[in-house]
Amino acid sequence: MSENYQVLARKYRPHLFEEMVGQSHTIKTLVNALNSNNLHHGFIFTGTRGVGKTTIARIFAKSVNCEKGVSAKPCGKCETCIEIDKGQSVDLIELDAASHTGVDHMREILENAQYMPTKDRFKVYLIDEVHMLSKSSFNALLKTLEEPPSHIKFLLATTDPQKLPITVLSRCLQFNLNKLTHDEILAQLKFIMNSEKLKFEESALSKIAAFGNGSMRDALSLLDQSISFGNGSVTDKDIKAMLGLVHHDDIVKLTSLIIERKADEVISFVNELAHRGENLSNTLKDLTSLIHQISIAQMLPQNKQSSVKVTALAEKICLQDLQLFYQIAINGLKDLGFAPSEQIGLEMTLLRMIAFHSEFNLEKKTLKIDVNPKDNKKTISAAKSINLEPAKKEKRHPKKDNAVCNSDNKHKLNVNSLSGQIDWERVIQVLPFNGASKTLVKNTLFVSRKDGELTLTLDKQYSNLLTSRTQKSIEKILFEHFDIMTLLIEIDQIEDQTLSQKETIKMRQIKDETEQQFLNDEGVKVLQEAFNVKADVKSIKPL
Ligand SMILES: [Zn+2]
Repeated sequence: MSENYQVLARKYRPHLFEEMVGQSHTIKTLVNALNSNNLHHGFIFTGTRGVGKTTIARIFAKSVNCEKGVSAKPCGKCETCIEIDKGQSVDLIELDAASHTGVDHMREILENAQYMPTKDRFKVYLIDEVHMLSKSSFNALLKTLEEPPSHIKFLLATTDPQKLPITVLSRCLQFNLNKLTHDEILAQLKFIMNSEKLKFEESALSKIAAFGNGSMRDALSLLDQSISFGNGSVTDKDIKAMLGLVHHDDIVKLTSLIIERKADEVISFVNELAHRGENLSNTLKDLTSLIHQISIAQMLPQNKQSSVKVTALAEKICLQDLQLFYQIAINGLKDLGFAPSEQIGLEMTLLRMIAFHSEFNLEKKTLKIDVNPKDNKKTISAAKSINLEPAKKEKRHPKKDNAVCNSDNKHKLNVNSLSGQIDWERVIQVLPFNGASKTLVKNTLFVSRKDGELTLTLDKQYSNLLTSRTQKSIEKILFEHFDIMTLLIEIDQIEDQTLSQKETIKMRQIKDETEQQFLNDEGVKVLQEAFNVKADVKSIKPL
């Protein structure tokens, strides 16, 4: 690396619209306006940090003031262009409202807008974080915007447009800049590394791009750091060490232990990670991303980007559990700061995933059903015996098995096992009903099954779900699995008996318990007393 190393973000700051990464929508509009010389006097650029708001504004300033004339392609060579690039132009007035709030000279500067530019065509005001202007400054700005002199261009940038008065918004053209995508950032990082002739591993750049989280500026400053950390090269290993990332294989292993509900192994593995000095909060964060990847692999099987490991995990877990795990993980991350230690916080979160695994409830129910050994014999001889064990054996796609949560060898469904409400609930959970049909069956009660005719009662509240389409789809599934030829659904009022109602009651109980636990928590009590506030128990959601 050379001695006079320049920060990458500055060195590779685009000087022309065509060099900009992303924001094609905004740029196209600006380029068209510049080329046709049809220019508004006020522009607002909104978007989060590091997405190019000030960069666009500076290129715009060159475009209108370039000595070669107004165009979307400023020459970059004339005195004005060079001055703007260096940040030395007298007619480009850059203000940062975040650092000038309430300062009087901000108002003065804005009041001076009526005076002609010193040497250029236009006086360009670039006001960053404009929503933070003081009230008097806003008034000065508004006054100029109401009757703009022809030599003025206002370029306003903000991360929080909601805080801008409508009077300002309505007088400007608004452009919403998007967060940059992972690919856009990655491509730029690669371009820079190649231009700098530095060595890199693509996976390392990909991690940096992900860490940038939509902000090119953040990604570039991280790239700067990692280049100096790796003494001129960027490797996966260095990035991992620098950011405290946990190895992907470890996360995969942890996830698979959770899916298999091996609580003791989960705890000892977390112990091992802690001993190795891994960053445990990143472990939880990475676990959350992995759950997301598994969900994508399940919902979009045609998506070829899922790795073999992710696809394998996707076959072992159902969609509901994934959703639950995700929610628990996110809450765990939020609570990590309150845990006595990161390790305890992580362990509790993982144990919660195991505890709230849907098999937990299912198991209790099914144990009541197939304990009769006589039935088992019949099952074997019965021609229509079905084994509903998912994916692994039948090689069906995991997506089709979404409804089948946790059947394993001991939970077999047989043709005789539908003779009462408990059996019916089991059937609802095991068979692949979905959408409206699923809601419908969950709100029915078993009435009778006789001579190939199954009779159910549907809760009146859900009668609108009963259409010929849902009836047919339920029949199709039931007829396939049982020797039933007619399905009769009667409508009546039902209270606290259907699977759906029982689930609601159960959820309410869990919620009450969670609230009670929360309120009895010493920490919460102390907080309530210290700040003289009451906890909003309604905001607590059961997991
Ligand atoms: Zn020029």
